[in-house]
Amino acid sequence: MAQHEESGQSVKEYIRTRRVRPNELKKYIYIQRIGSFSDKQSEILDKTKKYMSLCFGVELKELKKVEEKSIPQSGQRIHPSWGVKQLYTKYLLANVLKKPKDALCLIGFTARDLYPDPDWNFVFGIARPRDSLGLWSIYRNGDPAESEAAYQTCLKRTIRVAIHEAGHLFSIKHCLAYTCVMNGSNSLEESDRKPLHFCPSCLYKLCGNLKINPQTRYAKLAKFCEENSFNIEAEFFRKLHEVKSKK
Ligand SMILES: [Zn+2]
Ligand SMILES: [Zn+2]
Repeated sequence: MAQHEESGQSVKEYIRTRRVRPNELKKYIYIQRIGSFSDKQSEILDKTKKYMSLCFGVELKELKKVEEKSIPQSGQRIHPSWGVKQLYTKYLLANVLKKPKDALCLIGFTARDLYPDPDWNFVFGIARPRDSLGLWSIYRNGDPAESEAAYQTCLKRTIRVAIHEAGHLFSIKHCLAYTCVMNGSNSLEESDRKPLHFCPSCLYKLCGNLKINPQTRYAKLAKFCEENSFNIEAEFFRKLHEVKSKK
């Protein structure tokens, strides 16, 4: 908010917008891997898919992986000063991400760094809500093979961005109401401070739109967090589940 004007989005405003929601014809979140991933990175993506399905109550499907060698020179570059290979988001959005008919949205993941314009150094990812397309990179999430702590950080970052961007694809705008996974952020440091959960206002939007029962959702998320040693998050979700169950 220090650098970008943000207007927020009340629940009333959200309900008035044309929201993306599941129906008989469009009911799956599709994932598309682009390029190669290390074993640990693949594992992190598998876990992220699991978390997304629990968080949104929507079934995830995966399209056939796109090999990097099928991306032409016009879809990539070597960064002029860093010397690292980067993929061009404009090319990938226009030519690689092809949404199946029954897709609610399609999200591309890559382990390569991304750039949105030749004048830009890089971008973490990009969401195009009007086309229900998202694309993001796990390149800047750290090397999960480095240590147990690095693995945890990488997993949490990957999940956080996936949930935030998918929130946009379900028509939820940046949140100004509370500390929330839908808060905007302008750097990795700022993003790392965001929690994994939706605030009461965004959760109301999400559960109403996707017809999710928040109580069973909390129990599932708590279990996932316990299994992956996200101890603070596990306790948070467990407490919310218990509060709701006592009612
Ligand atoms: Zn955002
Ligand atoms: Zn929120």
